[in-house]
Amino acid sequence: MKTQHADVAVVGAGIVGIACAYYLAISKRAPKVVIIDPLAPMSLTSAASGENYRNWWPHQVMTEFTDFSTDLMEEISRQSNNQLHMTRRGYALATRLADPDTLLRQLYEGYGADGGAKIRWHKKGSGTKYQPALSADWQSAPDGVDVIQDRAILDSYFPSFDKEVSTVLHIRRAGDISGQQMGSFMLHKIRELGGSVVQGKVVAIQRTGSFSVAVESEAAAQTITADLVVNAAGPYVGHVAELLGEKLPVQNVFQQKIAFEDAQKAINRQMPFSIDLDGQVVDWSEQEREVLAEDPDLDWLTKAMPGAIHCRPEGGEHGKWLKLGWAFNTTPSEPSETLPFFPNFPEIVLRGASRLNPSLKVYYGRLPARMSHYGGYYTMTKENWPLIGPMATSGAFVAGALSGFGTMASCATGALVAKWAFGDSRPEFTKFLCLYRYQDETLMKALLSSESTGIL
Ligand SMILES: Cc1cc2nc3c(=O)[nH]c(=O)nc-3n(C[C@H](O)[C@H](O)[C@H](O)COP(=O)(O)OP(=O)(O)OC[C@H]3O[C@@H](n4cnc5c(N)ncnc54)[C@H](O)[C@@H]3O)c2cc1C
Repeated sequence: MKTQHADVAVVGAGIVGIACAYYLAISKRAPKVVIIDPLAPMSLTSAASGENYRNWWPHQVMTEFTDFSTDLMEEISRQSNNQLHMTRRGYALATRLADPDTLLRQLYEGYGADGGAKIRWHKKGSGTKYQPALSADWQSAPDGVDVIQDRAILDSYFPSFDKEVSTVLHIRRAGDISGQQMGSFMLHKIRELGGSVVQGKVVAIQRTGSFSVAVESEAAAQTITADLVVNAAGPYVGHVAELLGEKLPVQNVFQQKIAFEDAQKAINRQMPFSIDLDGQVVDWSEQEREVLAEDPDLDWLTKAMPGAIHCRPEGGEHGKWLKLGWAFNTTPSEPSETLPFFPNFPEIVLRGASRLNPSLKVYYGRLPARMSHYGGYYTMTKENWPLIGPMATSGAFVAGALSGFGTMASCATGALVAKWAFGDSRPEFTKFLCLYRYQDETLMKALLSSESTGIL
C-alpha cells in the first residue's frame, strides 16, 4: 500500500480546509501539507455559498473574528490584483420598525467599545450626508454603519424597497467575494510551496506517535502519516471527529438558495445585499392559500415565517443574475449525498423576497426556466459560533461549524488554526471560538439565551 508523509494532513478540500492548508503552508513551518478529499476541491458546501461577507453580528467576538478574516481577504485581494473579485457595497438590513430597539442595542453590542464612533445616524428629516454604495470598489467604501431613517435618503438610494420600511442599517464593511477564485488562488500557492491534494476519503485515523491517516479511493488505498491533523470536513466534521474517538457539539441544517436571470430588470444592479429582517406571512393568492392550508405537510407555509430573506444582484453591474435566499429551516438532519431540496422553495423565497422588493412580483408563478436551485448544510453549534482550535487528541485540530459564514470566515479560520498548530500568540477572541468555551458556563448560558445568534 502506498504511504507518504506530510507535516500536516488536512481532511476536507472545501474553502475551510484549503484556507487552513494555505496559512499552514505560507507559515513555511509546515511546507508539506496534504489535503485529502474524495470530491473535487470546493465542490460541496463551499459551492453553495452565497459568498457574502459582513462584520455585523450581535456579539463582539464574532465581529472581531470576521473583521480579522476580512483584513486577510483584503490582503489577498491586494496581492492578487483582486483575483477574488472582492466588492463592498454593504449589507442593507431593512425593517418596518420605526424604533428597532433590540436591533440597535445588538448593533452597539456587536461593535463593542467602538460602536458609538462607527455608527452614523440619519434620523427622520435630518438631511444628514450619506455616502451611497454607488461603487463596488472595496478600497473606497466607508467603514461603520449608517442607520437610515430619513425618508429622503431611503427613497433616493433604496427606491425599490417597500415603502413601509422605516429603518435601514447599511453595514459598510460587507459585500461579496468569489470563494471559488479565493480557493483557487490558495491552492496554487499551496502547491507552489510543496503541498498537494490527495483524492480519497479518510476512513480511519490512528495516533501512534504521529498520525496514521487511512485514505480510500477508487484508484487505490493509501496511508498518510502526519505530525498534525486538521479536521475540516464540513458537514462531516462530526464523523471525522468520531474517527478520533471524539464527539463534537455540531448539527447540520439544510439551507437553500436560488439564482436566476433578472430578464425583467426588477432589481437595480447597484443594490447592496439586501435583507428583510421582518417576519411575514407569505403573499399567496387566496386560492393558493386554501390549497396549501388543506395539505397537512404544507400548511406551515400559510403561517408566520421568520425574517432574514436576502436578495443580491450577482455578477456585478454588467451581470444580469439575482440570488435569493431564506434560511428558514431550523430542523437538523443527518448530512446526505442526496440533498433534501424542497421543490417549492423557489416560489417561496421569491414571494418572501417580494415583500422588501415588490418589483420581484413580476416573477410570481413564472420564474425563468434558466434558474439554479441549490443548497447545502449549515454545519453549526447551537450557539452558532464556530469550532476552531485543538481537539482533545493532541496534535489534532478542528476547523468547522462555520454555519452560514464559512466563506467569509475561512481566512481567519485558517490563520487561527496555523497559530494554534505552532503555538503562536493569538487574538484574545480566539479562545471563545474553540472547544474550551464550553467550560465557561456563564458565557454558554448567555449565548444560548441570546435573542439572536446572527443566522442569515
Ligand atoms: C445555501 C448556503 C449559503 C451560504 N452563504 C454563505 C455566504 O453568503 N457567506 C459565507 O461566508 N458563507 C456562506 N455559507 C456557508 C459556507 O458555504 C460554509 O460555511 C463553507 O462553505 C464551509 O466550508 P467547509 O470547507 O467547512 O465545508 P465543505 O465545503 O462542505 O467542505 C468539506 C469537505 O470535506 C470533505 N470530507 C468530508 N468527509 C471527509 C472524509 N472522511 N475524508 C475526506 N474528506 C472529507 C467533503 O467531501 C468536502 O469536500 C452558505 C452555506 C449555504 C449552505
